[in-house]
Amino acid sequence: MNISLSSDFADAVPEMAVSWEAVPVAEPELLALNGPLAAELGLDPAWLRADGLPFLVSGKGVAQAYAGHQFGGYSPRLGDGRALLLGELTDAEGRLRDLHLKGSGRTPFARGGDGLAAVGPMLREYLVSEAMHALGIPTTRALAVVSTGNVVQREEPLAGAVLARVAASHLRVGSFQYARNTGDLELLRRLADHAIARHHPGSTYLELFSHVVAAQASLVARWMLVGFIHGVMNTDNMTISGETIDYGPCAFMEAYDPTTKYSSIDHRGRYAYGNQPIIAEWNLARLAEALLPLFADDEDEAVSLALAALRTFDAHFEEAWTSGMRAKLGVSGDVKPLLEDLLALMHENHVDFTSFFHLLGKAARGDAEPARSLFLDLAAIDAWLARWRELGPDGEAMDRVNPVYVPRNHLVEEALAAGAAGDMGPFDRLLKAVTSPFGERPGLEYFAAPAPQDFSATYRTY
Ligand code: AMP
Ligand code: MG
Ligand code: MG
Repeated sequence: MNISLSSDFADAVPEMAVSWEAVPVAEPELLALNGPLAAELGLDPAWLRADGLPFLVSGKGVAQAYAGHQFGGYSPRLGDGRALLLGELTDAEGRLRDLHLKGSGRTPFARGGDGLAAVGPMLREYLVSEAMHALGIPTTRALAVVSTGNVVQREEPLAGAVLARVAASHLRVGSFQYARNTGDLELLRRLADHAIARHHPGSTYLELFSHVVAAQASLVARWMLVGFIHGVMNTDNMTISGETIDYGPCAFMEAYDPTTKYSSIDHRGRYAYGNQPIIAEWNLARLAEALLPLFADDEDEAVSLALAALRTFDAHFEEAWTSGMRAKLGVSGDVKPLLEDLLALMHENHVDFTSFFHLLGKAARGDAEPARSLFLDLAAIDAWLARWRELGPDGEAMDRVNPVYVPRNHLVEEALAAGAAGDMGPFDRLLKAVTSPFGERPGLEYFAAPAPQDFSATYRTY
């Protein structure tokens, strides 16, 4: 089989693309392959499993340059330290998709890093990104995880792996910050032209920015609606396409609490669940700053255009969040007071976010006991349920939007630990549950149940 990749990014902005080659892999072993995604890309899964395996771990490509604000501090030069863009592929629907390797060896952007990735974190990205896709949330996709047979030194020696990732593009807010920082406005313009051609053909620069604002507002609302916490919303981890990218310390919230954070490095909770909208807006302000010279020749005019576009974020977010919550509650009309009271009750009573909305579907069909038993304050939830019932909720519609199976933290850790020890059974079973997240299925109760209490209190992601 012959795979033809284009090099649109490298051709458009060669200043931001360092030609590089993945490190040779001694003993590639396929741990996970995404058959449906392969088919979408016009790649034969049977071939990828056999002769095509080297294609998933090796090859020539480019390391992309980008900058970024990490936890609010600016780094002018980050870039792909351990990743390579192999090139772009035209999928079955004629769309260009990036094919990318992560964990493919040190590049000139590696700084102190070893350029490698361990099996656990790459399986984690595979599992969570495919779960997000199944939830209908825009995301980069995982095509495969291949273990390399190399040892990766972390706190302990670990088995190495490469993730083959597919994305609408890997253009990030940080890509534009990098271009702007060079002071070369012609490069900035070329990068923006490339982004427009790729994502919003025919748009002006200001329209490009507005599209990104709308896409990110909707994306973050959709994260919030399923309790997803990205964990490291640095500007280099925010795409122009509106896809979720960079599954590192991400996690699904267990008990509802806006201050929830699991990341071991997010000491001050900058990227906590409830901060995600404001952080997204902050990141978009950094994108506006980078693009400013393209909006208008006069700086004051450029700033006022940028601000007007940026200010649409709140309305876009509010619309996506409110309509999403209406659907979760199975009702229409003004749900604001009802929702505020519910969230306050869930917070006070430490109610599992995913379980509650799933079980509320049963309540709509007459069996309120499973949902109400999640609360200690029964009088309060009964009063709330009575108000909600007045609105005539549609349980069947609710079941189509409230997932039963999400990659719960304890299940993910269990699957990764087994995978790293050579047993892919738990990973495969969990993947099967979370890639059909809606509707209860017999025999899968284990995957719907919340974590044991002592697990959640101390859980950290890395
Ligand atoms: P992240 O926090 O995953 O978005 O990564 C931030 C930066 O660190 C990016 O420039 C990555 O390419 C780089 N990086 C992360 N891990 C490694 C590693 N093991 N080796 C080299 N670079 C890395
Ligand atoms: Mg990153
Ligand atoms: Mg990362």
